[in-house]
Amino acid sequence: MQTQTPAIQTRDLTRRFGAIVAVKELDLDVATGAVFGLLGPNGAGKTTLIKMLTTALPPTAGSATVAGFDIERKAQAVRERIGYVPQALSADGALTGYENLLLSAHLYGIGRGERRKRIFEALEFMGLREWGGRLVREYSGGMIRRLEIAQSMLHRPAVLFLDEPTVGLDPVARHAVWDRIRSLRDQYRMTVLLTTHDMEEADVLCDSVAIMHRGQIAAVGSPEQLKAAVGGSATLDDVFVHFTGGALEEGSSYRETARARRLARRLS
Ligand code: ATP
Repeated sequence: MQTQTPAIQTRDLTRRFGAIVAVKELDLDVATGAVFGLLGPNGAGKTTLIKMLTTALPPTAGSATVAGFDIERKAQAVRERIGYVPQALSADGALTGYENLLLSAHLYGIGRGERRKRIFEALEFMGLREWGGRLVREYSGGMIRRLEIAQSMLHRPAVLFLDEPTVGLDPVARHAVWDRIRSLRDQYRMTVLLTTHDMEEADVLCDSVAIMHRGQIAAVGSPEQLKAAVGGSATLDDVFVHFTGGALEEGSSYRETARARRLARRLS
């Protein structure tokens, strides 16, 4: 049987900023068609890794391929095969959903004959069919997120990068975004790499999770494998604490926060 090239593969990938090693000799394989979660405290190197994988930042050393293409030698081929939704708001509130999508279609070089079809398909897919003609400033946070994902999928990327896709959304909107991400995987066989600080999101949405700590992968596997590795009735919170030493960022006490939240959940 032929083994398939991973959608993302890094070998000894390294990025330094002066004396700081943001990403350190990182080896990572992300299987095609997986929803892959990248977890880690602030400053672990997640953004730097994504910047390199999306060709926005050159590595200092090592190599990586995305959709089978080298991020340095075949940067243009990589760019044509990826979509990226940053955490910051990227849709224009003064335009309609349709107009935002039209801008993206131009940006991705989708031919005139295909544009309308792809835009309506993306609106439908993201549950925004009725909203295409409305100004984005009238959208809810969850609808804006779905529109931004629609923008990033117009050119049918092989790999989609989502930076904290549900941060700030209410539970209903969060579940709606999760459903669409699953559909992208199931219907288009897209590989989705997302960053998150939300352990429930990692647990219920991701096929595989990597915990990044100080520029390296501290642990990788399915949520079930990682929980089993820590043992007992470990939650993904426990796994995170186990592999990162407990700090969400320098100076904060993740362990205490996690314990307090678990207690609150049990009491509620
Ligand atoms: P967060 O969850 O806060 O986004 P992160 O895991 O994405 O954190 P990075 O933003 O990749 O972490 O940062 C990793 C390290 O590299 C940090 O120590 C950061 O201060 C440093 N760093 C990132 N970008 C630069 C830069 N342009 N110049 C200098 N140092 C940088």
